[in-house]
Amino acid sequence: MDAIETHECDVLVIGAGGAGLRAAIEASALGCRVALVTKSLLGKAHTVMAEGGVAAALAHVDPQDGWQVHFRDTMKGGSFLNHWRMAQLHAQEAPDRVRELEHWGALFDRTTDGRILQRAFGGHTYKRLAHVGDRTGLEMIRTLQDRGVHQGMDVFMEVAITKLFKDGGRIAGAFGYRRPDGAFLAFRAKAVVIATGGVGKAWKVTSNSWEYSGDGQALAYEAGAELIDMEFLQFHPTGMVWPPGVMGLLVTEGVRGEGGILRNNKGERFMWKYLPEARRNEYAADEDEARRWLDAAVAMKQTSDRRPPELSTRDNVSRAIYTEVKEGRGSPHGGVFLDISYLPAERVIRKLPSMYHQFVELADVDITKQPMEVGPTTHYMMGGVRAEPDTGAATVPGLFAAGEAAAGLHGANRLGGNSLSDLLVFGQRAGAGAAAYARGASQARIDPADMEAEARDLVAPLERSQGEDPYAIHRDLQECMQTNVGIFRVERDLQQAIDGVREIRERWRNVRVGGGRVFNPGWHLARDLKNLLLVSEMIARSAQLRKESRGAHSRIDFPAMDPALGKVNMCTTQAGDTMRVEPSPLPEMPAELQALFEPAKEKVG
Ligand SMILES: Cc1cc2nc3c(=O)[nH]c(=O)nc-3n(C[C@H](O)[C@H](O)[C@H](O)COP(=O)(O)OP(=O)(O)OC[C@H]3O[C@@H](n4cnc5c(N)ncnc54)[C@H](O)[C@@H]3O)c2cc1C
Repeated sequence: MDAIETHECDVLVIGAGGAGLRAAIEASALGCRVALVTKSLLGKAHTVMAEGGVAAALAHVDPQDGWQVHFRDTMKGGSFLNHWRMAQLHAQEAPDRVRELEHWGALFDRTTDGRILQRAFGGHTYKRLAHVGDRTGLEMIRTLQDRGVHQGMDVFMEVAITKLFKDGGRIAGAFGYRRPDGAFLAFRAKAVVIATGGVGKAWKVTSNSWEYSGDGQALAYEAGAELIDMEFLQFHPTGMVWPPGVMGLLVTEGVRGEGGILRNNKGERFMWKYLPEARRNEYAADEDEARRWLDAAVAMKQTSDRRPPELSTRDNVSRAIYTEVKEGRGSPHGGVFLDISYLPAERVIRKLPSMYHQFVELADVDITKQPMEVGPTTHYMMGGVRAEPDTGAATVPGLFAAGEAAAGLHGANRLGGNSLSDLLVFGQRAGAGAAAYARGASQARIDPADMEAEARDLVAPLERSQGEDPYAIHRDLQECMQTNVGIFRVERDLQQAIDGVREIRERWRNVRVGGGRVFNPGWHLARDLKNLLLVSEMIARSAQLRKESRGAHSRIDFPAMDPALGKVNMCTTQAGDTMRVEPSPLPEMPAELQALFEPAKEKVG
């Protein structure tokens, strides 16, 4: 076996998106020696792709906003499966985290009097998203990266972590390989923060990039951590549907926030039909009220008019589009129409520059003159590693998690903009939590035999003389999940998914890759598949166990919410060689927060 390049640190952060960078900055600022590892290049994580904005109750545009309203919107959006304490901390701390970014050099769009401008997004009562046109993630990652590099940390780019090590029950470090040359690396660390993002590459149609193979969820699971809410996968309502090569590419919710209207092939503005009765009063009653709301938004004026129905929550809009298409009212390429061309072209290009270029260059559509064709795309994982709200601690000593890889804040459905704020708030908290743990811990020992075993496991696909092609396995997994674990689910399909994933895993055990370890994407995929298969099984099994419809999880065979299931998360753990999925009670919300949901307390206190 080759030599293993070994590094030592106090805190190892896996993932250099918003959550990982913010955690690394915090741990470093608290005096820890930090190693930051990323599978791709620094600055190229998913966070850079974020478009519409970061949600924070700054109350710059709508002064009635406040943390209590943000808290309430987040809990309602998540169908009350959210961890109340996470939703509280998130709503309370997001404004400070955004202002901190500004102090570190981020330049947000501005109000006429020079404050951070905020735009409307689905499920948010007030205009709440601080943004930079439709390139918010780029500004955020640029700022965090700059701050991080100056704060001081060791950065390891293009290194994929494949295993966490433990010593006597606590985390001891991690193992991985460098993607360009295949060299093996080991990190001895007192604490590890998982910030590896989501799982979208298990589906055929997704807004996610190659990086989203569920690595962090799988690493934590194998280290003995609990995962929750894995059944809650968000389908964003608006992805591109044409041409085929870009199917699934995101069309930001910012388009609807700026006035985009959804219509079917009969020209009907169908979203009114799909508003949940209990929340209908939050939305404009007709086209006139929706138009007045938009005019006020453009003029940056206060209004008592209610927001358009297109700004319903993502789970609801996705189901609406799916139903319109299924019932024969779709657009020529199997989506619906999203139209913003009725607004002045100059405003569309100024507020949505990336969308303008995306459609001109990829679909030959000028969105200032024609409607876009859009349909649902796999987008965001609400479930993930169970993390203690105040510290980000997972259920294994020394392990922490933040960002999309963690769970608890969003419950059954995430509101747009609440991910970027999640990364900042809980990235900072996980960094502080890991630093505090590391300060009180000695360096643990990694058994050399464990490292060798992992290295042997990694090279096995290169040493087989025959076996399965990783690309064929990946295609079959995506087909299986796309067909059986979609927007609408049913027992038979979920069982097929579970059986299908198990069969595909048997084939994967015999995966074979030609060539060596240098620049070999097939080898990388062979390893990613291990994680994708594990996480796919967690999702299908949790979805099977939740026999109700709630948030992003819609069961055709159980169309209503079950109050008893509203009190539990589905919790996944490893039990020997088998996967255990079982209900786990939600913590009860304290009375003073429950009171915020009483009608008389609807105003900010
Ligand atoms: C197109 C698009 C637009 C979006 N727009 C918005 C928006 O406007 N507002 C909003 O709130 N949210 C938005 N989201 C969601 C949001 O961007 C993501 O949820 C968020 O950026 C995730 O951040 P993260 O730090 O958790 O993960 P990421 O930013 O994805 O970072 C994950 C990091 O982990 C690394 N990694 C993964 N596996 C390994 C491994 N095994 N070893 C080492 N490194 C590893 C990756 O290389 C990467 O550095 C959008 C998402 C997409 C896809």
